[in-house]
Amino acid sequence: MIKYFANVFNNSRAIVQGHWITLKYMFKPAVTIHYPDEKLVPFEKFRGALLFDQQVCISCNLCVKACPSNCIQLENAKNETGKKIAKVEWYSIDFGKCNFCRLCEEACPTKPKSVWHSLDYEVIFVKRDEMVRCWKKDFPFVGKYFDRKTQDFMDAEGQVSIHDVQPRRS
Ligand code: SF4
Ligand code: SF4
Repeated sequence: MIKYFANVFNNSRAIVQGHWITLKYMFKPAVTIHYPDEKLVPFEKFRGALLFDQQVCISCNLCVKACPSNCIQLENAKNETGKKIAKVEWYSIDFGKCNFCRLCEEACPTKPKSVWHSLDYEVIFVKRDEMVRCWKKDFPFVGKYFDRKTQDFMDAEGQVSIHDVQPRRS
């Protein structure tokens, strides 16, 4: 009989404790967010998808040499006489090989950086072509990809910008 009442007491106490904890947290601010309608902004040094500025790049090749995954390629622009100039004709990064190590950004000597990690953590690739991001004159910082089926450059739609204006290190 004593054991029976002890059980009733212990179980009732556990139920009251459980409800008390629920009640306490009910009036505290939520720590979760309604993803994907709301998005967390990562900390400043987060290494998201790489962006590139064709206007600032001086085609020095330092990022290509620094990259341990061998995923950056570029071609020098040339002037009317065919002489190489300090600009790129095109630049590409293979996100399928990139390990997001930031060595390319660290090696880049321009101010601001010509290649840099954004805060974008939502990058979707539906096919292999989309992984090779390309930049040419007047392409956006996010770049485009070359679609082998249509033989044309397409917008990189799978990348969602966390900021309208991307922060960029100098
Ligand atoms: S982040 Fe690293 S692996 Fe990716 S392109 Fe830059 S240097 Fe190469
Ligand atoms: S991105 Fe920077 S390091 Fe790479 S070629 Fe351009 S200027 Fe040089």
